[in-house]
Amino acid sequence: MNPQTLNRQSMTHWVLSCARLMRENQAYLTHLDSAIGDADHGANMTRGFNAAEAKLLELPPDTSPGEVLVLTGQTLVTSIGGASGPLWGAVFRRTGKSLSGLLEVDLAALEGALDKGLVAVMELGAAEPGDKTMVDALSPAVDALKAALRAGVPLEEALEKAQVAALEGAQQTTPMLARKGRASYLGERSVGHQDPGAASTALIITALNLSLRDLALRGEG
Ligand code: ADP
Ligand code: MG
Repeated sequence: MNPQTLNRQSMTHWVLSCARLMRENQAYLTHLDSAIGDADHGANMTRGFNAAEAKLLELPPDTSPGEVLVLTGQTLVTSIGGASGPLWGAVFRRTGKSLSGLLEVDLAALEGALDKGLVAVMELGAAEPGDKTMVDALSPAVDALKAALRAGVPLEEALEKAQVAALEGAQQTTPMLARKGRASYLGERSVGHQDPGAASTALIITALNLSLRDLALRGEG
């Protein structure tokens, strides 16, 4: 049975898994960004999460789960040059702040905090669902957590559903017309390509799911 909460260790594991998945998928993300952007998304996300990984490895053990995410967000803002730095920085910082004071994060707290993170990125970037951005993967993931919370399913099943929703959301950006960011300069020519930011978002939600599973497998949850 997997644990029903995420603690500091699982939040750290989430960010380290993000770094690993960005490194492994760097060429793929760059390939997507070369079609409708400037071919730097893989490098941006890898640089940002590598920097966050280095910061987290220095943290004292009494750091709270929320503080792990706030520090991650601050590091993404300062280490990523592209649009995704401030945007992902806002998600992690607001999500982390919303967990303030908690040592164990259950599904209700996680859903509430990620929802605030989603609101933060939508405020900052002014993108709505359907605009062909990272919001199109993050918003279905948060919706899946919300539905899982209502249905009373265990945390591991909720994270699995969030991962599937984010991956589907990213795939569904392919036929969309880009209305925000660099891809919007292409107009109709942005249609037929998956949004790179939505693809990396699906990796970040995949990493969240992995964090719980890996820790449970090692009996450290
Ligand atoms: P840049 O566009 O500066 O080169 P990146 O390539 O790292 O930055 O990131 C591009 C991604 O950022 C896009 O694929 C999209 O998902 C996301 N993005 C861009 N602008 C916005 C916005 N206003 N709101 C939400 N996401 C956005
Ligand atoms: Mg780019």
